[in-house]
Amino acid sequence: MRPAASHPYTIYEYALSGSRTILAVVPVICTFWVECFIAICLPVVRAVFRIAFRPHALIATIHSVFAMNRETIKTYRHVRDVPQLTEEEVQRLAPVEAEYAFRANSYYLGLIDWTNPDDPLRRLVIPSAEELCQQGHLDASREADYTVARGLQHKYRDTVLMLVTETCDSYCRYCFRKRLTMRRNDEGTIDPEEALEYIRNHTEIRNVLLTGGDPLILATNKLERIFNALNKMSHVRAIRVGTKVVSFRPQRISQDRALLKMFQRYSTPDRRIYIMAHFSHPNELSMEAHEAIRLLKKSGCEIMNQCPIIRGVNDNAESLERLLTELMAMGVHPYYLFIGRPTLGNRTFAVPITQAWSILQEAVRPLPGLARTVRLAMSHHSGKLEVTGVDRDFIHLYYHRAADPANHGRHLICERDDLAIWFDDLTEVVPRSRVDRRRDIFRPRTWRSLQRFEFPRGSETGREN
Ligand code: SF4
Repeated sequence: MRPAASHPYTIYEYALSGSRTILAVVPVICTFWVECFIAICLPVVRAVFRIAFRPHALIATIHSVFAMNRETIKTYRHVRDVPQLTEEEVQRLAPVEAEYAFRANSYYLGLIDWTNPDDPLRRLVIPSAEELCQQGHLDASREADYTVARGLQHKYRDTVLMLVTETCDSYCRYCFRKRLTMRRNDEGTIDPEEALEYIRNHTEIRNVLLTGGDPLILATNKLERIFNALNKMSHVRAIRVGTKVVSFRPQRISQDRALLKMFQRYSTPDRRIYIMAHFSHPNELSMEAHEAIRLLKKSGCEIMNQCPIIRGVNDNAESLERLLTELMAMGVHPYYLFIGRPTLGNRTFAVPITQAWSILQEAVRPLPGLARTVRLAMSHHSGKLEVTGVDRDFIHLYYHRAADPANHGRHLICERDDLAIWFDDLTEVVPRSRVDRRRDIFRPRTWRSLQRFEFPRGSETGREN
């Protein structure tokens, strides 16, 4: 019998089309439930795993969430806004602030022991009246000589420094680029295009160091534009980011997933991003800083640490030993310990070369090799000089990098001077037979252009009594 015209399908056809629909729908439903199951269970499994194997990370996360909820981080741009300072202190520091900019935040100020007037972190960010001493030079390493485009310095053939901002989250009182934050400055760069164009056209450049100011103060999308442009230049093999945000405001890293994702994208196995952290004292290694370092490492960045040796902050073996030990434990490689440049306003922070050498030797003596990777160095106008030894009569130096290729790898022996705080203060000992041959080669005596910092005679350490 033929089916009626109003029922075009047989029961069999109905069943077939129904089972087809079911067959089509079942996988969708199954996939949906499996995805739901994964979405719900995976975080639970991960959380259990974290609790079991990484209790510190979990504690740090909880701590930072609570800290975040408790208060937002406030930025103070004037000394008078710092709640912990007395009216008398504010009055006394006003002339310093008028000369050199002040900036700090409530997180960092919270790491200070305010009952201790000599607290190292207090000295690091709170101005002191001694900064008004007029010794030194605003551009102590004569960076202007190597500035090839706005905000770009090209000193060593394969390396450039790109000053991407003139601002930092907070200001270190001992900063050697404090000129960038002074009212009379017009050196910073806002648009990095000119610098990027220069790098694009100079294929001998292998390393780009983003610095400033602090690059991580920039919005993530602005940073991404720079990384993206550099990423397209195949001759650039490593990108370094010099930053103190990890110490000043680690939440900038731990609370910005977009920033971490960006690092993950650009720090690849064949072209790593190096974070040049700037921890100066072990008291900066808070839970929040640990968490920021953990996340940076997870996103594929290599992390090194470099800082200057600063009088009243870390010029003692005990602090340096603790700092180096903790950095090693966190997987942060100690890189440079710098002798502070003789910058205007920084005489109060200067540590003489021989004293810095002895402090470092004492600090690393009990440490394993992993923490001894730190080098004592000076970023001089002529190059990066490593202090390789101090004996009874001499200071031994080595050109780790040199602006003049003739100096590269050169060892220097200088007369020991316990008051010398900078290379220009030293006198090289040149054997008589070599004097004539070397007449045309860079000689340190010819660089005595900067005013020498004077320490009171009779004080070996240069400390004021
Ligand atoms: S973080 Fe670096 S650039 Fe910024 S104030 Fe400190 S030393 Fe200067």
